[in-house]
Amino acid sequence: DFDLTEAQSQLQERARELSDGPIRERAAEVDRTESYPWDTVKQLVDSGFMGMTIPVEYGGLGLSYFDVVLVVEQVARNCGITARIVVDANMGGVGAVMKYGTPDQKKTVAGYVLEGDKPAILITEPDAGSDATGMSTTAERVDGGYILNGTKYWITGGGVSHVHLVFAQVVEDGVKQGIQGFLAYRDKTDGLRIGERHRTMGLRGIPETYIHFENMFVPEEDVVRPPGEARRGFAGLMDAYNGQRVGAGMVAHGIAQGALEVAVDRVKSREQFGRPLAEFQGLQWMLADMQIGLTASRGLLYQAAQRLSPAGFPERQLAAQAKVFAAENAIRVTNDALQLFGAQGYNRALPLERMVRDARMFTIGGGTAQMLRNQVASTLLGMKLPQTRDGWLAEVDHAR
Ligand code: FAD
Repeated sequence: DFDLTEAQSQLQERARELSDGPIRERAAEVDRTESYPWDTVKQLVDSGFMGMTIPVEYGGLGLSYFDVVLVVEQVARNCGITARIVVDANMGGVGAVMKYGTPDQKKTVAGYVLEGDKPAILITEPDAGSDATGMSTTAERVDGGYILNGTKYWITGGGVSHVHLVFAQVVEDGVKQGIQGFLAYRDKTDGLRIGERHRTMGLRGIPETYIHFENMFVPEEDVVRPPGEARRGFAGLMDAYNGQRVGAGMVAHGIAQGALEVAVDRVKSREQFGRPLAEFQGLQWMLADMQIGLTASRGLLYQAAQRLSPAGFPERQLAAQAKVFAAENAIRVTNDALQLFGAQGYNRALPLERMVRDARMFTIGGGTAQMLRNQVASTLLGMKLPQTRDGWLAEVDHAR
């Protein structure tokens, strides 16, 4: 049911106003200068868009994932960067800590986020991308906590985020115990070193960097522990990550929605052969296909944001489908919008080429379209689909 409550309509309207005003005005400059939009973050804080999902007792608004995607959709129409900040400040890491964290962890993280921090999530490593469980960052059990060593890369917000949710292999007495989450803070945790920045195609206003852990000590009280043993803990943390996926899908969708809106204006005002471009049927059908794709992707994303797992996160199977569809559709729609502008679409003075570059990311980050299809197929078939060679052999043996 996508009927909005009065409060949701107002939230959406406030997000639209901020987006069509100051956020639109800054978007091109943020891209050009590749600098984090601290001034926009301040406006997000003032509007209550940072930490919306944080429970009221920790100073947030206690809003739902669906409320967040309504805001993200509006913001992304004009600026993918700002929309990603809203996602990170309400979903992924924030969701995990608010669900599984201790009261002290929640209080600390809420404090940072409500003041404008966009937490970073650190999973990917140079040799462990899609195969995240193959990560080699270790957390060795010592007196009172853990010592972490390793390197992550492609970390969104490296050097601007304070809160870091780090995933590492727990090692006790030389034996691997499974992957757990650890909180580290840029201004407080010794041994957390921000590395080199990646030169990205799009989404240039948020740094993507290497992050190194050099004998980084994390005290026991900063371990984020979903219920159950360590081996199950990673599944719990990844459950929280489904929120992030829906959020990322909505950023892609919103960028494409913004591209369609400017394209509609363009075809009505631009004339060739003595008539507006909008009168050419070939272009009308392009526009219709763009609209159909966006209606479908919005429906999938809204549904995924509303259908929650027992733990209270967007349900995994729907989140995966919504992200794959929205991300691939956004690539098509932004490219078609650029096409409708002709040469001017290719001009950096207009937002089309930025929208194409920004939209391109979402089939990669946060679980690639291929890996998410693996997941959808696995659930559909009711089969484990191990991706390692020996994993398949074990499955075949098991089936015999
Ligand atoms: P690879 O795993 O090397 O995959 C390469 C290609 O092979 C892909 O097309 C993939 O789909 C395909 N492939 C691999 N294995 C299979 C298989 N079994 N079946 C079918 N196809 C397969 N990570 C973080 O931890 N934190 C972040 O904040 C973060 N932010 C990011 C921001 C951006 C802009 C980008 C681009 C990435 C970010 N990432 C982040 C990393 C991202 O999650 C990884 O890029 C992603 O998981 C894929 O890993 P990879 O790049 O190593 O690709």
